[in-house]
Amino acid sequence: MSKVKVAINGYGTIGKRVADAVTMQDDMEIIGIAKTRPNYEAFVAHDKGYNVYTLADRVDDMKKAGIPAAGSVEDMAAEADIVVDCTPGGVGEKNKALYEKAGVKAIWQGGEDHELAGCSFNAEANYAEALGRDFVRVVSCNTTGLCRVIYPLDQEYGVKKVRVTLMRRSADPNDIKTGPINAIIPNPIKLPSHHGPDVKSIMPHINITSTAVKLSTTLMHVHTLNMELEKDCTSEDVKDLFAKQSRIRFIEQGISSTAEIMELAKDIGRPRGDMWENSVWKDSVTMYEGELYFFQGIHQESIVIPENVDAIRAMMELEKDGAKSIAKTNKAMGL
Ligand code: NAD
Repeated sequence: MSKVKVAINGYGTIGKRVADAVTMQDDMEIIGIAKTRPNYEAFVAHDKGYNVYTLADRVDDMKKAGIPAAGSVEDMAAEADIVVDCTPGGVGEKNKALYEKAGVKAIWQGGEDHELAGCSFNAEANYAEALGRDFVRVVSCNTTGLCRVIYPLDQEYGVKKVRVTLMRRSADPNDIKTGPINAIIPNPIKLPSHHGPDVKSIMPHINITSTAVKLSTTLMHVHTLNMELEKDCTSEDVKDLFAKQSRIRFIEQGISSTAEIMELAKDIGRPRGDMWENSVWKDSVTMYEGELYFFQGIHQESIVIPENVDAIRAMMELEKDGAKSIAKTNKAMGL
């Protein structure tokens, strides 16, 4: 069977990682990536063997800079079975007409609204909903991290209520323009933050509210979760349940910070030092007066990458069973 042809529109933090993860799979391939400018990332993509496309009026600029642009974003879309749009939040929605005209399926990221695609996606929680769909949105890093812990707890014990505080990294490590560099920002001040409601775009029945602050760090987000469950259980029961989830990793062995989690990811040989799993501090999993508490770290640059691969597989109906797709993606990526 021929491989599904995948194009990446927007080759930044998320786009470059999705491209490499797709390349690791045996049922899909990258036919091109689109960059707006011939910067170092475009040269790296070219050196890796990806066809580099660009905006229609910039093809000549790309060629002059030394990258033989394979054509415009429209040309790329025409070649592909599916486009993974990884342009900055708010830009992706402008590309919908282009994808519709090309008759190509598209995935957007969490920076776009749920309504754009009409289907928000988390592989564990609602794989089947994306089967055969033309448009899907893979939810943000924080929403992905929340779904991965809430869904199994809801399946096993029933979730009565979730209250979460998100301590968010202020910028990605390569971002030289965004702050703060010496402040904590309640963000947004008007509550709740959008993260809790975004979980409902996948699991509408969950009672969840969230607050968020931005910190002067670039490494990871950290969530403090507080949950009430329908059925009685112990902290050991929760740990046993989390241990069975392939995209949850327990953080222990003296790791007490996000800095050490990032070092662990490098030590175990992850590309770009990525941590694709939720990083749950095992010793933080606590039941107190019948309520569950725990901390988890979320590597914002990489946690959504396996979910994008699964979304492609669901939309192209390469695999009908979500658990099988997750296992296949994990195996190919070394997760
Ligand atoms: P980024 O800024 O790192 O990368 C975006 C890329 O798109 C850049 O290379 C930019 O040059 C390019 N681009 C800009 N306009 C374009 C256009 N019109 N056509 C083609 N390319 C264009 O952004 P990112 O962090 O990778 O975010 C992409 C999406 O993923 C957003 O929706 C974001 O909310 C979401 N997301 C980001 C993170 C994260 O922490 N970085 C995590 C999860 C989801």
